Amino acid sequence: MNTSSSESGSVLPKLTIPRNLIGQKALVTGANSGIGRGVAIALGEAGADVAVNYVVGDDAANAVVDDIRRGGVHAVALKADVSSEDQVASLFERMIQEFGTVDILVANAGLQRDAAFREMTLEQWNTVLGVNLTGQFLCARAAIREFLRRGVVPSISCCAGKIICMSSVHQEIPWGGHANYATSKGGIKMLMESLAQEVAPHRIRVNGIAPGAIRTPINTAAWQTKEAYEQLMKLVPYGRIGEPEDIARAAVWLASDYSDYVVGTTLFVDGGMTLFPGFATGG
Ligand code: NAD
Repeated sequence: MNTSSSESGSVLPKLTIPRNLIGQKALVTGANSGIGRGVAIALGEAGADVAVNYVVGDDAANAVVDDIRRGGVHAVALKADVSSEDQVASLFERMIQEFGTVDILVANAGLQRDAAFREMTLEQWNTVLGVNLTGQFLCARAAIREFLRRGVVPSISCCAGKIICMSSVHQEIPWGGHANYATSKGGIKMLMESLAQEVAPHRIRVNGIAPGAIRTPINTAAWQTKEAYEQLMKLVPYGRIGEPEDIARAAVWLASDYSDYVVGTTLFVDGGMTLFPGFATGG
């Protein structure tokens, strides 16, 4: 089956996703748009049953579910705000009722509330930290509890569970005007690494993906006009914007046993954005 999950017209060649997640149960947060949508569809193509979490946009979530089901696996839409402890508890209860367990969590939900630092309100700060960082803590904690309860099922996977934390190049690159967002992503790096270290002895693998500029609704201002796109390309040595499929393919690999010895790593999928492109001709 082919992947064509970009809402905005992906330019990527269509590749067949290897079906190496058959029988696994995956939860993707923020999966009715952008990267989460692409990841949910690709996990389904790889043979996993998929829960599509979202907070608003029933129709978009149901469309992703329909798309995944067409591949012959099970999928459900589960509404929950990942920044709410009660809603995350109920999200995992419903997931486990529906699928029996959770093997893969992709903690992806995220947002931006940009402002110059001196103008930034406490609400903008708390909203971004609440969804991007606390949301990952709450979801990861619930997933870890289920992985520990169930343990390794060798016929399904050689480890007891996988968590993929969706970070950003801004876990490394400071970002003026977006201090709340960059702080949340720096926090995800340490959350991911500390958790990975703590639970690796239980054969649970926690890793991160740090996307560069990906063509999704979160950053339309950076790619929608020709001028903005040309400016953006000054930051991307590989010379194209990323597509949700670029992230989805990395997520399928990180969720599979092909990456079994990969523990506590952030995989940068950024077209070289973190290679200090200004130094290619200067410095
Ligand atoms: P997007 O806006 O298309 O998708 C964000 C998703 O998160 C949506 O489904 C939204 O409904 C969901 N969401 C927001 N608040 C939520 C909440 N409280 N509870 C549950 N879901 C919630 O953006 P995207 O680009 O697909 O972003 C996905 C992730 O990728 C984010 O964590 C973002 O920081 C990260 N990221 C994106 C880029 C990029 O260039 N697009 C780059 C680096 C990192």
